[in-house]
Amino acid sequence: MKRYALITGASRGIGRAIAIELAKDGCSILLNYKSNQAAAEEAKRLIEEAGGEAELMPFDVSQPDAINAALDAWFTAHPDDYIDVLVNNAGIVDDEIMLAMEPEQWHRVIDVNLNGFFYCTRRVIEGMVINHHGRIVNLSSISGQVGNVGQVNYSAAKSALIGATKTIAKELAPKHVTVNAVSPGAIETDMVRASEEYMPEYMRDISNIPMRRLGKPEEVAYLVSFLCSDRANYISGQVIGINGAAL
Ligand code: NAP
Repeated sequence: MKRYALITGASRGIGRAIAIELAKDGCSILLNYKSNQAAAEEAKRLIEEAGGEAELMPFDVSQPDAINAALDAWFTAHPDDYIDVLVNNAGIVDDEIMLAMEPEQWHRVIDVNLNGFFYCTRRVIEGMVINHHGRIVNLSSISGQVGNVGQVNYSAAKSALIGATKTIAKELAPKHVTVNAVSPGAIETDMVRASEEYMPEYMRDISNIPMRRLGKPEEVAYLVSFLCSDRANYISGQVIGINGAAL
């Protein structure tokens, strides 16, 4: 039986690296993205080049109707399968200091980073529960652990993901479904470039990161790969930082 892994926001950055790594682990990848078709096609090509397989599954994680339409179609085409691995990775930033933040910026970031996690997880866990096996990994952030100037919306969403991770880890433990949060520091992707204006010194200036460099998307992917493996059967409800000793 094939093991299916849905990775949200897998067209670029950390999500793409996770998709490639899980494909190398033998998972068949459901590669979600929002709108960057070219990047998604390139991610799929890289997975296939590595000997894996992937199908594109575009939807906006903040739109429950779109999620349900995509997953209904998939479940109809795969009546005997379920999604064993869910990586809630899709995320955005829209930085502004609290004093100037518009309600739209607040809601947009909460909708994608937090509500997106809820909609996707709610739709996918039934199969894990019925099959008594599953892995959920939520991408939090160092910003959700210690705060970050200009990121009240993002910090709030990433911090909330930690609480949600711990709660559903407890709910799903009897069903052999593990749920963990991975909390990266500054990783070299488009997102970090977008946040540059508000990045505090300790993240922008690599001399303030004890390891003196940004992290690589692949390094986050290796951690997610381990958490999704049977070697991590007894690890659940945890927040695992990956930040070059920055926290
Ligand atoms: P990124 O390079 O900006 O890539 C974002 C990905 O999310 C893209 O695949 C994008 O799809 C997708 N996406 C955005 N909005 C979406 C939506 N509404 N529905 C579905 N997909 C959507 O981001 P990243 O740096 O790899 O970050 C990945 C995750 O790690 C995020 O949750 C982020 O908060 C977290 N994180 C990142 C860092 C860092 O330093 N980079 C640090 C801590 C935590 P399109 O290509 O279609 O736009």
